[in-house]
Amino acid sequence: MRWSNLLIPTLKEDPAEAEAASHRLMIRSGMVRQLAAGIYCYLPLGQRVLDRINTIIREEMNRIGGQEITLPALHPAELWQQTGRWDEIGEEMFRLKDRGKRDMCLGMTHEEVITWLAVKEIRSYREMPQIWYQIQVKFRDEARPKSGVLRTREFHMKDSYSLDADEEGLGRSYEFHKEAYARIFGRCGLKFYLVESDPGMMGGAGSHEFMAPSPAGEDEVVLCTSCGYAANIELASSKSPAPTFPPWSSLEELATPGTRSIEEVSNFLQIDPRLILKTLMVMTGEGPLLCLLRGDQLLDEKKLQRLVGPFRPAHRDEMKEIAGVEVGFLSPLGLELPRLADETVAEGVYVAGANREGYHVRGVVPGKHFSARYADIHHVQSGETCLQCGASLAVEPVIEVGNIFKLGTRYSTPFGAVYLDEKGQEHPIVMGSYGIGPARIAAAAIEQSHDQDGIIWPMSISPFPVHLLAVNVKDETMRTVGDELYRQFVAAGVEVLYDDRDERAGVKFKDADLLGIPYRVTVGSRAIREGQVEIRNRRTREDALVPIAETVPHVQALLTETEGS
Ligand code: ATP
Ligand code: MG
Repeated sequence: MRWSNLLIPTLKEDPAEAEAASHRLMIRSGMVRQLAAGIYCYLPLGQRVLDRINTIIREEMNRIGGQEITLPALHPAELWQQTGRWDEIGEEMFRLKDRGKRDMCLGMTHEEVITWLAVKEIRSYREMPQIWYQIQVKFRDEARPKSGVLRTREFHMKDSYSLDADEEGLGRSYEFHKEAYARIFGRCGLKFYLVESDPGMMGGAGSHEFMAPSPAGEDEVVLCTSCGYAANIELASSKSPAPTFPPWSSLEELATPGTRSIEEVSNFLQIDPRLILKTLMVMTGEGPLLCLLRGDQLLDEKKLQRLVGPFRPAHRDEMKEIAGVEVGFLSPLGLELPRLADETVAEGVYVAGANREGYHVRGVVPGKHFSARYADIHHVQSGETCLQCGASLAVEPVIEVGNIFKLGTRYSTPFGAVYLDEKGQEHPIVMGSYGIGPARIAAAAIEQSHDQDGIIWPMSISPFPVHLLAVNVKDETMRTVGDELYRQFVAAGVEVLYDDRDERAGVKFKDADLLGIPYRVTVGSRAIREGQVEIRNRRTREDALVPIAETVPHVQALLTETEGS
């Protein structure tokens, strides 16, 4: 295609609001434009990338027996009321009323609609397994839409759903998806980890996430390079090596004037922070709760929420009213409040707050001086040890690009989605749900592959494989050679972006680097002087000089070589 006929509005400057590299580069390269917070237009270049990703997804979904369908984006509320999610889900759901005042919503996901379809269409074990998928729009009123297309309020998702007669069947459909997803992300040129995850609002019996490592990621994974343990940090467990506990044999109150934080107390008392008990007060649906952690540990909010439901930290004045002191001096001793302690502190002897401003208590033995419920509530940190093998754990920021769930009968039971077995007995259909965000794949690929000048596309999802550039189209020979090469590429079936604009050479080269198409063919003064074009590899920046007449076959050979990379 000729650039002069296309809409590729590149920008010289970084947009002010963009932080993530993918956000910056997608806007600068003219792939996308933002209509409103978390709502984007895809311009021709962006659309081409999405199309290429979707083609890979379709090929891999079809390969595991997936059948493409399209479900409505507009849903009647009754469907969501049937599973209880109408009430469970809060402001993330876009809700509206139709002209008859009936409640409706814009689909965030499609478990309800799929199960409705299964009720209608599946009767017998003979009709399963089924895998149904779509690549379709979803709406989520995300609390913090940001980072360009990584988190938007309207986005396309490939979502698929498996229907099986039993757990064993679900296990097979789940494995098929795991393999298909690994091939999809691999073919898209992404580095990724497969990790255990928390099923969250989907419910169900187990789930995994596909995570693309990137500093721009909002999620974190915990990895053990020794045994291969890999989990979302919200779910991950770890062990922290215990300190040597001093022989503190009785409770002793210590004056600790002006010290509040763990660091201040440990410096003041000249002790290891791991010998201090951290006491936090949170407000749950059932009132105040004390959470106890070791001094070096942080509370994991997701873990706590799974145990106690929604909560928030207690305000200063609430703490004052309930405990009589402010944060920093709270104590597990002497307060008639429920206590939840991290498993780590079940053993040992500690310094804790004294419920008295300016004082701490030494010699506190959990189990002896106070009782508590014990659970894993600490946030895993790099360098802690793997529970499975004892090696050191790493924590890495990642972008979630895909998620697979074993739903079991979470949706089929409330909908009465049942089938008859060989003996004519009824059972609920056993289901799975599997999602991928194509725009996130594009953005994650840019996060993982760019430099200071622009994008470096993996060949498989690049908007074009070849960028043909005529340095000066006012020069008759250069333009003729460029036009002729363009004609030859088209005739050979190679998709090429031909920069035939009447622009300065500097602008064209900068734009080529920004767009990041894998091979650039430059028709410049050398073409006139020596009859050669320059072929540059965007990733390695290596140049090859090739006689004009051999350009197309040479590039075709390069494309065959890089296929799938
Ligand atoms: P997150 O935790 O990042 O909000 P999620 O767990 O809500 O993601 P799923 O409901 O499992 O995501 O959706 C499946 C896939 O859809 C995700 O892996 C991601 O690739 C994509 N996706 C989810 N939410 C968004 C969004 N707001 N914008 C763009 N893509 C999204
Ligand atoms: Mg989400």
